[in-house]
Amino acid sequence: MLNTELIATLKTAEVAPQAHIIGGRPVANRDGQVLDVLSPRDGGVLTIIAAGGSEEIDLAVAVARQSFEQRSWSAMPPAGRKRVLVRLAELIETHAYELAVLGVRDNGTEISMALKAEPGSAAGTFRYYGEAIDKVYGEIAPTAANVIGLINRSPVGVVGAIVPWNFPLMIGAWKIAPALAAGNSVVLKPAETASLTLLRLAELALEAGLPEGVLNVVTGRGTEAGKALALHRDVDVLAFTGSGVVGRKLMEYSAASNLKAVYLELGGKSPNVVFPDAPDLDAAAAAAVNGIFRNSGQVCVSGSRLLVHQHIHDEFLARVVERTEALTVGDPLDAGSDMGAVNSAEQLDKNLGYVASAQEDGAVLCSGGNRVLEETGGYFMEPTIFRAVNTEMRIAQEEVFGPLLSVIPFQDEADAIRIANATPYGLAAGVWTGDLGRAHRMVDRIDAGVIHVNCYGGSDITVPLGGLKQSGNGHDKSLHALEKYTALKTAWINIS
Ligand code: NAD
Repeated sequence: MLNTELIATLKTAEVAPQAHIIGGRPVANRDGQVLDVLSPRDGGVLTIIAAGGSEEIDLAVAVARQSFEQRSWSAMPPAGRKRVLVRLAELIETHAYELAVLGVRDNGTEISMALKAEPGSAAGTFRYYGEAIDKVYGEIAPTAANVIGLINRSPVGVVGAIVPWNFPLMIGAWKIAPALAAGNSVVLKPAETASLTLLRLAELALEAGLPEGVLNVVTGRGTEAGKALALHRDVDVLAFTGSGVVGRKLMEYSAASNLKAVYLELGGKSPNVVFPDAPDLDAAAAAAVNGIFRNSGQVCVSGSRLLVHQHIHDEFLARVVERTEALTVGDPLDAGSDMGAVNSAEQLDKNLGYVASAQEDGAVLCSGGNRVLEETGGYFMEPTIFRAVNTEMRIAQEEVFGPLLSVIPFQDEADAIRIANATPYGLAAGVWTGDLGRAHRMVDRIDAGVIHVNCYGGSDITVPLGGLKQSGNGHDKSLHALEKYTALKTAWINIS
């Protein structure tokens, strides 16, 4: 049960103008430039953030490097780092409502989801990596007897992290927590439309005992602060979540600067495949709806292509449409809203542009398609379903990142695999079948980093999330994420 009284109090609290957090203290932009933070709930100005650029990035990277070299964090025994990270997890939990409501006011996610996915998941992530880091051992190689080959993992140094506006706290934590646990110092650049919770997180990290300068947050535009971070010659590793368009640029920036390692978590066009032998078609319909419309479709692993076997296509689609039309779109801070607001006016325009393009391409609109609640000033859109979609259409190829479902019929297993793989992406997928052999064949043949069987979208911190093909490289979550933030070092010791 949501604490609606607390939400009501928090949702009108004034949000102070925000500065960067560099070296453990607020730092204003040298040139005084700021950006308005618009709330997607009503389009009003919530507060302002500093519009950082290369000067602020230079300062933050220098401070991060200095903190790394002072070794107060990087050489702290893992059990000490664990204490700080677990304390931070506790503080996030204590401030869960404050963080969730602030995040919703900033980015529009429905509160029921935001509470779990943002502070809930971020706290779990800091606890997981804090608890893990004093249990990760090095290796001894099987060398000849006159030698000891020690293989250790050491922190890489300064990690730059650039994150998107959907689930900023969760995705930020997926990068910051393993990077800090491994002993690195971090410079984080949040998305310009979702910076507030990450600034607050940096304050809580200081309160938890993280030494000053180890976690720095520089806000501002991607084309300025983000680009400066990606081009910086003293950043050792860049961890990114966002679009493929920007991901490509980051690789160019790395090539044009110091060849820093660039890890990309990008978008998807994920297929959710329903066979007639699915154990529970009603559950499949419910998951298909939830899998695309939660957070207004602004989820990287959204099941945005629903592939339905031709024998059950019409009946299954009817169930999906019925459930979709029962969803309530409304104020994301209202506990009764199933879908909140789209993050920005630009994203809403983009979504509506895809509706027009689908119609031009010959897809058939069977639900939604419009902006709603315009009188609130907020950016709301109906959950939208197109049928008769084929793999050539833009809505079957491009990531919309909005509440738009493309329904595509298929004939048999081979056809389903062909359609499922017919995009440049490979992030997530779903398969609904009661046939164990078929489930394994689909898991084997579909190009995706995560495949859900008889469910859609479940996960926790123990398993990696990462894409194949143009959905990215590297992984967030699980112990595997530590690989990105550590360097393998060999000591070849002659003992003869
Ligand atoms: P985006 O690529 O537009 O922006 C992401 C971040 O990059 C922002 O902080 C932005 O300021 C910054 N940026 C923009 N231009 C830049 C530049 N030239 N140099 C450096 N930084 C720059 O993405 P978005 O619209 O914020 O987020 C949505 C995208 O993120 C979708 O494609 C979605 O699928 C993807 N995503 C992926 C995952 C995953 O785990 N694979 C998770 C969530 C979101």
